[in-house]
Amino acid sequence: MGRLRPAGEDLRVVDAAFVRSWVEEIASAVDDQRDFLTQLDAAIGDADHGVNMSRGFTAVRTRLADGAADGMGPGAFLTLVGSTLVSTVGGASGPLYGTAFRRAGKALGDGDDIDAQGLASALRAALDGVQQLGAAAEGDKTMVDALAPAVTAFEHGVQEGDSLAGAATAAREAAEEGMRATVPLQARKGRASYLGPRSVGHQDPGATSTVLILAALERVAVARARAGG
Ligand code: ADP
Ligand code: MG
Repeated sequence: MGRLRPAGEDLRVVDAAFVRSWVEEIASAVDDQRDFLTQLDAAIGDADHGVNMSRGFTAVRTRLADGAADGMGPGAFLTLVGSTLVSTVGGASGPLYGTAFRRAGKALGDGDDIDAQGLASALRAALDGVQQLGAAAEGDKTMVDALAPAVTAFEHGVQEGDSLAGAATAAREAAEEGMRATVPLQARKGRASYLGPRSVGHQDPGATSTVLILAALERVAVARARAGG
């Protein structure tokens, strides 16, 4: 049984301000955790994941400050974020996250106000994009290990009638669980796979940044719910 929605909750809350706050929250989290992400990548990669993510989201912030996204709806906004990541981040994570945001933006379409179901479809489209591009399955020790269970948990929450904040919390929890589960895995995709069995015993950097992205979504959704939708 899903929890009942609070009476009067506005379900069409994913507007341009919402996605902008989400992306700004991601940018601060990536800055805060930059060194940690880089340390994780130093163990099983080339020690640049924090730098890559920080470069990408700094470029996004610059574009926002320049007014490039002013007047955009949520779909166009996320598409712009994705394109900025693709064009500024080297490494595997740039094209992968760039594709994720572009696909999510495309899935949101031209509407100004998206409901939780629309966001669920966008998150699913993001995951599909990452998997089409990177060909990683769950268990390969990549960002997919955090993103796939998060998308499923978000969809489940929405189907059960949970609030947007509740579904976002479930998604963040599932992503964290998936991230922790990468530790004992041997990498089968990406740079870490070159290490073979030596990749075992380390947390995947990309799964970790995916948790930051979903935790940022949760914070924005919870803040919205507190502010009355
Ligand atoms: P690079 O590996 O090119 O240095 P980053 O360090 O920025 O790029 O990102 C590494 C992360 O990218 C990994 O921790 C993993 O989560 C993710 N990744 C790498 N290859 C793939 C893939 N094929 N599919 C999904 N995610 C991948
Ligand atoms: Mg790297």
